[in-house]
Amino acid sequence: MNIHEHQAKALLKEFGAPVAQGVAIFKTSEAGAAAQSLPGPLYVVKTQIHAGGRGKGRFKELGEEAAGGVRLAKSIDDVIFHAGEMLGNTLVTKQTGPEGKQVNRLYIENGANIARELYLSVLVDRETGRVSFVVSTEGGMDIEGVAAETPEKIHTIAIHPDTGVTEADAARLCDALELEGEARSDGMKLFPILYKAFVEKDMSLLEINPLIVLDNGGLQVLDAKVSFDNNALFRHPDIEALRDLSEEDEKEIEAGKHDLAYIALDGTIGCMVNGAGLAMATMDIIKLYGEQPANFLDVGGGATVEKVTAAFKIITSDPSVKGILVNIFGGIMRCDVIAEGVLQAVKEMGLNVPLVVRLEGTKVAEGKKLIDESDLDVISASDLDDAAQKIVAAVRG
Ligand code: GDP
Ligand code: MN
Repeated sequence: MNIHEHQAKALLKEFGAPVAQGVAIFKTSEAGAAAQSLPGPLYVVKTQIHAGGRGKGRFKELGEEAAGGVRLAKSIDDVIFHAGEMLGNTLVTKQTGPEGKQVNRLYIENGANIARELYLSVLVDRETGRVSFVVSTEGGMDIEGVAAETPEKIHTIAIHPDTGVTEADAARLCDALELEGEARSDGMKLFPILYKAFVEKDMSLLEINPLIVLDNGGLQVLDAKVSFDNNALFRHPDIEALRDLSEEDEKEIEAGKHDLAYIALDGTIGCMVNGAGLAMATMDIIKLYGEQPANFLDVGGGATVEKVTAAFKIITSDPSVKGILVNIFGGIMRCDVIAEGVLQAVKEMGLNVPLVVRLEGTKVAEGKKLIDESDLDVISASDLDDAAQKIVAAVRG
């Protein structure tokens, strides 16, 4: 689960990280009072969407020459002007895709005078199995470029779970970021704080880009992106309360209600599969034959007819789905339950796209019989390879 920048900053502030004062607003009429409550004289008006690259983003409704999704303002009137231009409009960034995201809230923040922009993130490094800091002196708006062209400027420092961030770790991070004076003593305090926040709140990613050195010497968190491990959310009702459903894919929300592992993708072939490994293999083989999956869906083991019905409905309700591939290897999952779920969903929703079904394993004869006896127009497949070729041929007409 992701949260907005202003929420991430409030959370980091609770742990003691240095962040600027700011106010989140939903209406232009709130902009003046929000700015008034800040010290000034420089303000920043920041779109709050679950996507990065806002500064370099462009609004669909405004011209190319209009400013992006993060704007400096030198007066309260300026703040109000920018808020009016941004709220309700659609921001397109490198991370939103061409359709962009509607801006429903803004963060009005006190402006900072920046001496240097640094990059810092905390993540779980799967190679070492440790929470690690990834830092670079080259922070700001093009860290992807730094990673591609000058990877030696990116430093990774793994933290031992028994000790947390030691003095030596913090000093190495300060060295990597070339911090001196006040910035260095701020860093020595900040790195353990970020580690603590990351671990206590079960974050999966904490990215601060940029972490800045202020012109008066100290450090400040200027941007913050935080993702949480969904499997640990039950431990954090305070974090779950920050969820902004308007930022999430409707199909994913619906899938979440039924406890389905579902991720929306860009392709045209809807997939219903059991087991994450088989789901991966199914997506791979669809790509091998030249098409793209529309989703990742693992109905899991031991799903009920209701759950399978819900899963199939989510797939059929997606207008970009031009064909459906059901690929089940029944173990704990029974093929007859899958068949019943599919038939139930089709009865309620209809079916306007080709459907390829490959069933194997527990209760396969019963499952096939249910489908054969229905009037459902199914293309059956003998194995995964056959199934992928048949669905690709079907969507291509
Ligand atoms: P992103 O584009 O979505 O990553 O948004 P950021 O919050 O990182 O802001 C983008 C850029 O705007 C930063 O890299 C800064 O250069 C600039 N910026 C943001 N806040 C301030 C501020 O308080 N003062 C100044 N001078 N620049 C800022
Ligand atoms: Mn940023």
